[in-house]
Amino acid sequence: MTVHTDNSEQVLISGGGIGGLAAALGIAKAGYRVTVLEQADSFGEIGAGIQMGPNAFRALDRLGVGQRARDNAVLIDALVLMDGLSGQEVTRIPVKDAFRQRFGAPYAVAHRADMHLSLLEGCQQNPDVTLLNRQRVTDYKQDEYGVTVYTTSGDEFRGAALIGCDGLKSPIREKIVGDGAPRVSGHITYRAVLPIEQMPEDLRWNAATLWAGPKYHLVHYPLRGWELFNIVATFHSDRTTEGAGEEGSREEILERFSSLVPKARRILETPESWKLWVLCDREPVDNWTDGRVTLLGDAAHPTLQYFAQGACMAIEDAVCLADKLAEHPEALQAAFVDYQNDRMARTARIQLQSRLIGDYIYHPDGARRQLRNAVMAAKRPEDYYSDLQWLYGGGPGNSASEPWRLT
Ligand SMILES: Cc1cc2nc3c(=O)[nH]c(=O)nc-3n(C[C@H](O)[C@H](O)[C@H](O)COP(=O)(O)OP(=O)(O)OC[C@H]3O[C@@H](n4cnc5c(N)ncnc54)[C@H](O)[C@@H]3O)c2cc1C
Repeated sequence: MTVHTDNSEQVLISGGGIGGLAAALGIAKAGYRVTVLEQADSFGEIGAGIQMGPNAFRALDRLGVGQRARDNAVLIDALVLMDGLSGQEVTRIPVKDAFRQRFGAPYAVAHRADMHLSLLEGCQQNPDVTLLNRQRVTDYKQDEYGVTVYTTSGDEFRGAALIGCDGLKSPIREKIVGDGAPRVSGHITYRAVLPIEQMPEDLRWNAATLWAGPKYHLVHYPLRGWELFNIVATFHSDRTTEGAGEEGSREEILERFSSLVPKARRILETPESWKLWVLCDREPVDNWTDGRVTLLGDAAHPTLQYFAQGACMAIEDAVCLADKLAEHPEALQAAFVDYQNDRMARTARIQLQSRLIGDYIYHPDGARRQLRNAVMAAKRPEDYYSDLQWLYGGGPGNSASEPWRLT
C-alpha cells in the first residue's frame, strides 16, 4: 500500500470524465493543486456525439479551453424538429448569428472524445494538475485536517478536500446521499456513428435534427469536420436493468421504428453495429455535500439527455465551484455549501424538465402530437430564444441563471 500525503493545498477528484477534468481545471485556476483519480486504464470517452449549448462554451471559455473546444466541434445552423409520422418539419430554431450574439457563444456538436480531449489537453498542460489512472475510488474518511481517499489498488490519497465526479453510480454519492441504484427511466438509446458517405445525401443537414414519433425519436447531426454523422435512436422499453455501451440489436431498432417515415428510417438500416444505453436519472436532492467532500456533474444531478445538457451542467458546476473557492479562500467547506446551493435549483430544473420533454415533445401520439405540432409551429425564433434564456443565457455568475426565470 502506498500512502500519498499532501498538504492543505491539494484537492482530490474521483473520476476523470468531462466533469472531473473541468473541475480539475477550475480548481487549479482557484489556486489549488489537484489530483484526478480515474478508474479506467486511460483518460478518454466512449459513446458518440454530444451537443453543447452556448452556456457550456461560455463556461469552457472561463476554464481557458473554449477555443480548443470550438476547434473540435461543428457549429451548426439550426435545431430542427420533424414529425416522424408525416415527415413534415414542425419547427426550426436558427442558432446562427442572432442566436450566437444573444447568448455570447455558439450551439455546437462534437465527438465526445474530442470534447474530452479539449479538457484533457488543458489539464496536461497545467503543472498543478496530476492525472492518475487505474485508481478506482471506493471510500473516503475525513477529519478536522483533511480527507483520506481509498482505491482498489490499495493506495491511499490524502488531501484537503474531495470532489466526487464519478458519474451516475458514484460511490461518493452513495456515502453522502445514500439513494441506492439510479432510476431506470423506461427509455433506451441506441447510438451509432456513420461515415458521411453512408448518410443519405438528402439528410446531410448542418443541424441537430430530431424526428419525433410515438414513443420514439431519432436524432442526427454531423461530427468531426463533417467526416461523420452521429445517429441516436431512443424508444420506450420495459427493460428494468441498467446498461451502458452494450451491443444493440438491429432487428429491435428496425421493429421499434417501423412507423417512422421511410426518408428517415433509411438511416436506421445502415449501421452494422449499435451500442445501447438504458437511460437512467435520479430525483433531485437538496444536499450533496459532506464537510470537505462534495459532488459534481452526473454524480450530483444525473439527468435524461433530452435537454442535451448533462455534460454542459457538469462544466458549469466546475466554473461555479472554482468561483466559490476563490471567494472563500481558506474556507473549503463554506465554498462547497455555497456552490451546492447555487447549483441546486438550476440542475434540478434540468433533471425534471428533461423527463417532461420526453413525454410531451419527443414521444407523443394522437391529440398530444397535434397539440405539440400546433404550439411549436406557431413559435418564432425570438419566442424560443426568450423561452430558453434561463438555460442558454444562464450559468455561473450570470443573473439569468435563476432557474425560475422564464425570460
Ligand atoms: C445517450 C446520451 C446522450 C447524451 N447527450 C448529451 C448531450 O448531447 N449534451 C450534454 O451536455 N450531455 C449529454 N449527455 C449527458 C452526459 O453524457 C453526462 O451528463 C456527462 O458525461 C457527465 O459527465 P461526468 O463527468 O459527470 O460523468 P461521467 O461522464 O459518467 O464520467 C465519470 C468518470 O468517472 C470515472 N469513475 C466512475 N467511478 C469511478 C470510481 N469509483 N473511481 C474513479 N473513477 C471513477 C468513470 O470512468 C468516468 O471517467 C448524454 C448522456 C447520454 C446517456
